[in-house]
Amino acid sequence: MKKFFLMLVAFAFATALTAQTNSKYILVIHGGAGTILKSQMTPEKEALYKQGLQNALDAGSKILKQGGTALDAVEATIMVLENDSLFNAGKGAVFTNEGKNELDASIMDGKTLKAGAVAGVTNIKNPITAARAVMDKSEHVMMAGKGAELFAAQNGCTVVDPSYFFTTQRWNDLLDAKREDSLKALHKDSTKAFLKQPDNHDYKYGTVGAVALDMYGNLAAATSTGGMTDKRYGRIGDSPIIGAGTYADNNTCAVSCTGWGEYFIRLSMAKTVSDRMEFAHESVKDAADEMIMKKLPSLGGDGGLIAVDKDGNFTMSFDTDGMYRGYIKSDGESKVEIYK
Ligand code: ASP
Repeated sequence: MKKFFLMLVAFAFATALTAQTNSKYILVIHGGAGTILKSQMTPEKEALYKQGLQNALDAGSKILKQGGTALDAVEATIMVLENDSLFNAGKGAVFTNEGKNELDASIMDGKTLKAGAVAGVTNIKNPITAARAVMDKSEHVMMAGKGAELFAAQNGCTVVDPSYFFTTQRWNDLLDAKREDSLKALHKDSTKAFLKQPDNHDYKYGTVGAVALDMYGNLAAATSTGGMTDKRYGRIGDSPIIGAGTYADNNTCAVSCTGWGEYFIRLSMAKTVSDRMEFAHESVKDAADEMIMKKLPSLGGDGGLIAVDKDGNFTMSFDTDGMYRGYIKSDGESKVEIYK
């Protein structure tokens, strides 16, 4: 009798557990959109980028596979990309006009609609951990500059000397950008000079992002960046702005953006994709394509986004020549891609 009772309890427990999980998960990432042309890439460099994306997918999917949350998965994924100097986030961040690295990051939980973000931090090794700390350990959503740095340090984020972020490649990119600016100024072609992406040059962009659906049906999104090369005086882009560069809502989708931030802010890009799904009942792909392929270029901006919906449908939309990107699903299907 006792044995029968125990079996009954175990059966009820197992049924309750499977009702909550369907063991389906997906992780989608980007490493920035821009003028990424095969003709300008060496096979060695291409292999390094692909490996970098794969490492990030491995770290995040390991968490999802073990039953971890989408939130933990996107944070871990972003940390790997931040630690990889190939990408414009954490180590490898681009330089400001003054020759500094000012980092932005944000994270959002689609289950609770809680979010955290930091902007313009200069000494936090992994800005995404600071964004997570703001979300989990403060009553705020966004903190900037010195205050954000202090808060992050007080809450266990690793602090580094700002020189940690220096890379020769990004320094040379800044010198190139400045040279180009002065040429434009000389030719009176100064409209939007400091932000204009020169032809066949990929040095302005390269943000990283991750979106995930976990086994429990929860969505999460995270984005981290050094911003845009040669950015000025405390400029903050879309990446740390909830609703612009990052958004997640279990009822619709999780979104992370990359590209010319000013346009993404003006379009409230990430939240608009979610709204189109919620109010116009568009699919995640249609909503993203409409915004990235039509609305964004109609204003003069460019870039891309990744998004996943609550059923695991996803899209990687961009209107640039390329976007570093990849995904992995619970059934094992996985891919990393660079070009159109
Ligand atoms: N969106 C970022 C910014 O404007 C740049 C990027 O995605 O590469 O700061």
